[in-house]
Amino acid sequence: MKPTSLFNVHRRQMVERHLRARGIGDERVLAAMGEVSRELFVGADQQDAAYDDCALPIAAGQTISQPYTVAFMCEAARLSPHDKVLEVGAGSGYGAAVLARLVHEVYTVERIPELTEEARTNLAAAGCRNVHVATADGSMGWPEHAPYDAILVTAAADALPTALVDQLAPGGRLVIPIGTGGQTMYRYTRLDHGLRRDDLGGFAFVPLIGAYSAER
Ligand code: SAM
Repeated sequence: MKPTSLFNVHRRQMVERHLRARGIGDERVLAAMGEVSRELFVGADQQDAAYDDCALPIAAGQTISQPYTVAFMCEAARLSPHDKVLEVGAGSGYGAAVLARLVHEVYTVERIPELTEEARTNLAAAGCRNVHVATADGSMGWPEHAPYDAILVTAAADALPTALVDQLAPGGRLVIPIGTGGQTMYRYTRLDHGLRRDDLGGFAFVPLIGAYSAER
């Protein structure tokens, strides 16, 4: 394990070189990315790569998202400090830890129980107290706590999960990769009458497995 000071240096470099230099401009997002210790969310064998700008393997054949992607989605969701946010795909808990610094309350759902436990442990180690984690098919959302000001989906859907749209507050934003193979990231914004869709470009994610996908 590297000394904490070295992780801190690598984290600062990640923020400047991989995030700011690539166009992430929201200072709150950059600050949050600079505060979360990503090394707490990866296994001992991945510590040296904790601040590389790439996805890394976690348990159950899943991945912790690339830092740039986490920052991009947070920025795209246009978050405010009073927001209540749902994340679909808790994985390691890293994305939720970043969200926890940006908004009031975070709800995150993971389909694999082993990862739910891991996310809870990692989030506790990172001192996050405003994150709630549950095991469920997140493509159905977490209706008990709806509506949400923003919903971030960290796995690729085949099609737009309407249950998530239904759980958006007025003005709420849903950031979600859609497509098979390569995916397009979309931001859907709930308007008074209907939805606005913004195309945010190409990304690659593991599949969202559940009610709205061919893979169940
Ligand atoms: N946010 C995570 C992190 O920071 O580590 C990244 C998660 S990984 C890219 C995507 C996660 O979505 C996986 O852990 C996978 O098990 C989960 N997932 C896939 N389909 C899901 C579903 N229907 N409901 C909840 N989680 C799902």
